[in-house]
Amino acid sequence: MSVHAALTIAGSDSSGGAGIQADIKTMITNGVYAMSAITALTAQNTTGVRSVMEVPPEFLGDQLDAVFEDIYPEAVKIGMVSSKELIQVIGEKLRFYQAKNVVVDPVMVASSGSSLMKNNGAEMMIKELFPLASLITPNIPEAEILSGCEIKNKQDMEAAAEKLSDLGAEAVLLKGGHSISDADDLLCVEGQKIWIRGRRIHNPNTHGTGCTLSSAIASNLAKGMEMEEAVRKAKEYISKALEAGLDLGKGSGPLDHAF
Ligand code: PLP
Repeated sequence: MSVHAALTIAGSDSSGGAGIQADIKTMITNGVYAMSAITALTAQNTTGVRSVMEVPPEFLGDQLDAVFEDIYPEAVKIGMVSSKELIQVIGEKLRFYQAKNVVVDPVMVASSGSSLMKNNGAEMMIKELFPLASLITPNIPEAEILSGCEIKNKQDMEAAAEKLSDLGAEAVLLKGGHSISDADDLLCVEGQKIWIRGRRIHNPNTHGTGCTLSSAIASNLAKGMEMEEAVRKAKEYISKALEAGLDLGKGSGPLDHAF
């Protein structure tokens, strides 16, 4: 049996619901071998982030060299990257190793409201990482910041997605989960706009949903799926992980990867 490997470049979440921990759980459950390059340690639980300790940029570079020189990942997911310096190192290394199937989740704010990116990080991410990305996966608040558009309905989502498509990534998945009406996502790929229908699942425990979705897509790309199928299957995965109804912690708890 052939083994497919994927790499997550993201922050650690001590509560295990988001970040590296969510990514590894998702990759294993989706049948790929998971590797990690950690950008920061966060001290957090389901109620919020207490503190963040970034790794030095050279050390992130060392982790990426160690991974790419040995077990080449067939897909790379990028999550929380809190500083311009770290973004720059990732850009350099991914270009050098010609990383493929790069999925960028432009994480800016934790679900609990804490900021996970310093000033101007978004501009650097657009410049350094979007041109390397096979897919970017902003939610509505992130898409508003990146596109400068206000998003109130599906027409606004289409307009914002068009602007985001001009920022250099091959494809854009604009996630509708933060909209009031439904949980439909908009995929822009190869000049097409494809609505991926989603049912709204009433579960207040949503910590790590963004991390999980982008890691599931990266896993599917590592296994050789085309983008649309990779996104549709990942959306099914996240729906099941939400529907399983795990209820842990005092705040917004994690998903169930063992549904
Ligand atoms: N990465 C880390 C390390 C985090 O702690 C969080 C949220 O707390 C995220 C990413 C984003 O989480 P979500 O998938 O809920 O948007």
